[in-house]
Parts: sequence; structure tokens; C-alpha cells
Amino acid sequence: MIVMKFGGTSVQDSEAIGRVAQIVKGRLTDRPVVVVSAMSKVTDSLLAMGKAAGAGDRKGALKLARALRERHYETAGELLGTALFTEFHSELGADFEDLDELLRGIGAVGEITPRTYDYVAAFGEMLSSKIVAAAFVAHGLPGTHVDSRQCLVTDANYTRAVPQFEETNQRLQKKVKPLLDAAKVPVMGGFIGSTRAGVTTTIGRGGSDFSAAIFGAGLDAERIEIWTDVDGMMTTDPRLCPDARRIKVISFDEAAELAYFGAKVLHPATVLPAIQKNIPVYVLNSLNPTCEGTKITARGPRCTNIFKAIALKKKTTIVDVAAPRRLLVHGYLKSIFDVFNDHEVSVDVVATSEVSVSLTVETNEQIPALASDLAKIADVKYEGRKAIICLVGENLRDTPGMAAKVFGILEDVKIRMISQGASEINLTFVIEEDEAAEVVRRLHREFFAEVDPEVFA
Ligand code: ASP
Ligand code: MG
Repeated sequence: MIVMKFGGTSVQDSEAIGRVAQIVKGRLTDRPVVVVSAMSKVTDSLLAMGKAAGAGDRKGALKLARALRERHYETAGELLGTALFTEFHSELGADFEDLDELLRGIGAVGEITPRTYDYVAAFGEMLSSKIVAAAFVAHGLPGTHVDSRQCLVTDANYTRAVPQFEETNQRLQKKVKPLLDAAKVPVMGGFIGSTRAGVTTTIGRGGSDFSAAIFGAGLDAERIEIWTDVDGMMTTDPRLCPDARRIKVISFDEAAELAYFGAKVLHPATVLPAIQKNIPVYVLNSLNPTCEGTKITARGPRCTNIFKAIALKKKTTIVDVAAPRRLLVHGYLKSIFDVFNDHEVSVDVVATSEVSVSLTVETNEQIPALASDLAKIADVKYEGRKAIICLVGENLRDTPGMAAKVFGILEDVKIRMISQGASEINLTFVIEEDEAAEVVRRLHREFFAEVDPEVFA
């Protein structure tokens, strides 16, 4: 069997859901389980109505709920045609009554807890999965809706609940496997689960990819397909570099490095349950379904290119912290990081010397306050308009002299910081933001002029 996951934009309206049905039709012999996100923007809107109700604005909350109801009715109506829709209408209607009821309750109490937020948010995936299942039937596919909350068991850490794999796997075997054996196409919502006691939970924003990986791992999938609206991962941003290539296959570690520095196609950490079981994960494009996409595997293939990709992250600020005497004091670095932590500012790149520490952070309005707290324990300077460039490739590990080669090409560029992470598969440096685009193009020309046809499209 395989898992096919479709994100919010892939199910955003009847046209998109129609495309999903066609794509799934082409895979029937692979015995797919389909996992869907809420229709695009629906989760945001549900959380907004929960918040409004919690602030006592019952009217505002119900108004948002009405708009959501209309959007779902319209989509279902267009997909199902009058006869099927009439039947389905009352089922959807009951869900929307429940939502209204819930919002009135929250409004009456004037407070919303994380547990209640999850209950509200879960409507998005519950509704989209029901509509997609019904649409499959209308398209002649043996779709059948499965309530994910009966399969994905989590702890009670609401809004970021942690899956309980063993129980989840047992339930998948019991509830989903028989449907596959009966040649059905189970359609399940991502993102949502429930505690052992049956209380609805969610596993964190963007969690549908994670759900797909959990279901795939639990059902021993041959592969997991994450359907998005891009062709896959690229050697660099094609808007910067028109000759960017699609990466056909990449290792999990490489994909993880890239995600960290901006390539936001898929956060690989979310598919770890699949990778750990050696199940390959494909990133595919629902607007261009014949494109082979990018395959992410536990171990990448041999590749004649040193690098797989060049990532660029702009809007970076360098913070230089210098304190000649106190650096010798035990626990000094910790005290610096504690300040970043207190301000909830996360650090991307670090370089230290005996007398100073340089760190980069995403440029944000916290920085002046952060700097003034740091100034209590050190001399601090900060400077914005920087960019991080990160070259990634497993071959870097076994190729000496690459740093010299890269910086040789960039002889005339002012390099502000250099770092090579312990993973040894990335070479990262910081430069002026206004030079970044040209530097990326130059590096791309150098390292991707010729590409390994097994690895790049
Ligand atoms: N609908 C959820 C969200 O918007 C989960 C997902 O789309 O993956 O965060
Ligand atoms: Mg997503």
C-alpha cells in the first residue's frame, strides 16, 4: 500500500479536489490511503473563531463559522451534484451545528483553553476528509471516510500532542487495514487525533505531513507521497537562478539541512517515522502530476556532484558578543544563550573565538531588547541586512579542500562568518544581503554546470 497526502492548497476548492480524485485514480493498483489537510486557510479561520468566542465575541465567531459553512457547502455541492449532495448536506449540516454550539459555549464562558482550541481546529480536517471521501465516490472511486481521531492516539498535550505509536499502529491495523483488504480507498484527515480517553487533540500546525508518515509507517507503506504545488526540491531557488535543477533524490539528512535554511517545501523532521522504517517519501506536484518530484530516502545515492543544493536565507542579523575577561568564566556561553532563550529568539549560525561569539538570528523586532539584556554581561554589537548561504551535500564529508574552493570563487566577497556544522554535510557562511543573489548564481554556475543525471533532472 501507499500513503498519498494532499495539503491545504491541493484541496482548496472543488477544482483542486477533482484533480486529487484523478491523481488517486491513477494509483488505485498501489492501494492508497489518502490523507488530507483542511482546505487552505481553514485552520487559521477556525482558530480565529475560537479566539473571538473566547474573548466574548460570539457574534463575530458565528459569522466566521457561517462563511466557513458556505465555503464547504459550495465545494461539496459542486463536487457531488444535486442528488448526492442532498444526502451529504445533512451530515455536514450536523457538523456545522456542532461547531456553532461549541462556539456559543466558548462565548458564554468567555474563555478558551488549549483543549477546546483543538476541538475547534479539528473541524477543518474532519470536514475536508469527509468531502474528499464523498467526492471520490462521486468520481467512481471506492472512497471511504475514516475518522483519524479513532486511529491516531496521542497524549493530552493539547495543540502539540505527541503520538503514541504502539497504540496508533494497532488501531491502524484494526481499522484501516481491513478497508484496504476490501479494496476501499480510506480517506483520513491529517493533523488530528485523540487521547486514549477519546478527547480530540491536534499534533501541531502543519502536522498533516507527520500524520501521513505515521500512517505510512504503521501500515508498512511502500512509499509515502506528499502532494504539494511545486515540482519538488530544487538545487536553488529558481526565482534567483533560472537554471536551477530539480533534485530527483536526496538523503533525509540533506533535506533536513535544507529545510533548516529556508527550503520550505517539506519539513523532513515530520516524515521521520517513515524514514526510520526505510520508507521513501516523495514530494510531488498536484498541478503537474506527471513530474517525478523529489524522493527523500534514508541514505542518498552516489552522486558525482559535491553539493545537492544551495540554500539562501535573507533577513538575517549578526549579533557580535565580546567579553575578553569573562569568556574564561565557566558557564559564560550558557549565560549568553540564556538571554536568547529568554527573548525566544532562535539562533541559526554560531562562530566563536576566544574573545568573542558571533551569532545570527532572523531579523526581528526583539533584537534591540535582546541586545540591551546582553549588554549587561558583554559588549554587544548587531548588524542587520545579512544573508546566510548554505551549501549542502553528503559528498562534502569525504571531499577535502572544498571550503578553500568555495571561498576561492568568492575571493572578492566579504564573508562575515563561516560555519561547518557537526553533520559535516553543510558549508554555511554569512554575507551582505545585497550581494547574496549574485553569490548564489555564481556558486550555482560553478557547482551545477554539469549534473549527475541520476540525481538531478
Ligand atoms: N491544517 C493544519 C494546519 O493548517 C495541518 C496541516 O495543514 O498540515 O496547520
Ligand atoms: Mg502543510
